[in-house]
Amino acid sequence: MAQRSETVEDFRLRARDWLSTHMPKAGSMPVREGIDPEEQNWLDARDLQKLLFSGGFAGICFPTEYGGQGLSREYQAAFNEESAPYEMPVALNVPSLGICSAMLLDMGTEEQKQKYVRGAISGELILCQFPSEPSGGSDLAGLLTRAQRDGDTYVINGQKCWSTYAFAADYATCLVRTDWDAPKHRGLSMIIVPVHDPATHMNRVQMVNGSSEFCEEFFTDLVVPAENLVGTENDGWTVGQRQLFYERQAVGGGSPYASGMTRARGTSHDSFTPVGMARKVGKEQDPAVRELVGGMHAQEVANAQLIRRVTKGMASYDYPAHSSSMMRLGSAETNQLRTDVMFELAGDLSVVGQVGDRSVLHQVGVAALMRQSASIAGGSTEMSRNMVSERVLMMPREYAADRDVPFKEVRRGR
Ligand SMILES: Cc1cc2nc3c(=O)[nH]c(=O)nc-3n(C[C@H](O)[C@H](O)[C@H](O)COP(=O)(O)OP(=O)(O)OC[C@H]3O[C@@H](n4cnc5c(N)ncnc54)[C@H](O)[C@@H]3O)c2cc1C
Repeated sequence: MAQRSETVEDFRLRARDWLSTHMPKAGSMPVREGIDPEEQNWLDARDLQKLLFSGGFAGICFPTEYGGQGLSREYQAAFNEESAPYEMPVALNVPSLGICSAMLLDMGTEEQKQKYVRGAISGELILCQFPSEPSGGSDLAGLLTRAQRDGDTYVINGQKCWSTYAFAADYATCLVRTDWDAPKHRGLSMIIVPVHDPATHMNRVQMVNGSSEFCEEFFTDLVVPAENLVGTENDGWTVGQRQLFYERQAVGGGSPYASGMTRARGTSHDSFTPVGMARKVGKEQDPAVRELVGGMHAQEVANAQLIRRVTKGMASYDYPAHSSSMMRLGSAETNQLRTDVMFELAGDLSVVGQVGDRSVLHQVGVAALMRQSASIAGGSTEMSRNMVSERVLMMPREYAADRDVPFKEVRRGR
């Protein structure tokens, strides 16, 4: 357990020492026979998180009363640098820790924090989020999944979609409609639901890169205790906004709750970068390649500065919380440019390979197939721009015909 008096440098040295004896080196996780690689990733993440927890290095910026270390971002940054050569449970950063736990920390009851936040930090459970549905993506408040209060329970019916890694999770934060007489933003509630329940049918959706990370869920009379309500009934929009804030922060790269550095699984940290790729294809001395890689580096530096500045501005309340959309925009553009540069460098070599090929070049090809997701996940790029113009620059709001109209009277497609 960290001592509050410990300096960042002392913490770094203690982390370095602990990591070298306890965490597996990157790429050295044993393969579990007969288990789908995606499932394996999650089993590994649970084990790795438990290891971090036992060593006193889980939830570095989470409060100690919920199993965290109660330390500041500087300690987390030092830990990220020290843990780069090791396997880390980065799969848990988004959404389990950086989005759902972060939101529950602000909006949950004491019991919810003890159960879900502590559970996520200790590696005992994984959280995912269920906001999106076919009628509620960008227009999130237009969602149709309903929850009916019945004594001490809620009965939930409806459908959710695009739930990242729900198959691996235990509980989800689920946004539902509880009042159809209220205008659309005022009749919502946030309820924690078990992911695996006989009343929930889950499908996994295969994506173009071969992954089945997306799930869709169909609820038929799913019964959950009323104590699972987060915040107050019909004030789910406030809770959902908080969750969206953390999502933009996490997707934008500014979450204090993310631990470890993300890299393509099975690749060494240095090779899955534009510089690593230039070396890999033997073009690091080519002037045109150096210009390309240098330009990319400049964009990375500018984006890191943007994240730092916006994070600081929000912490001091100089910038409104909606400024997290700026980080979300900057990171989407940076991620897409990074993929494009690596794809250009790898060229034809990235589009040949076997399914499941873990080589760096093949990973670049797979990443290129998914480049567009950066401008959709966490709210689309267009919605982020709307958010910046309306809520940060205070330009006029977009016209909405359904504002202040009871939701049951709002016209919608069949
Ligand atoms: C990698 C990834 C992970 C995701 N993970 C999750 C998850 O874990 N849980 C979850 O619930 N959801 C998740 N999503 C879903 C994501 O939140 C939605 O896809 C996103 O909010 C967009 O909603 P939509 O797909 O319904 O598109 P739509 O809302 O139908 O939008 C379609 C297009 O219209 C544009 N558009 C819509 N309204 C406006 C407007 N008012 N002004 C300007 N342009 C507009 C959009 O920008 C977009 O280009 C994930 C998505 C991705 C790509």
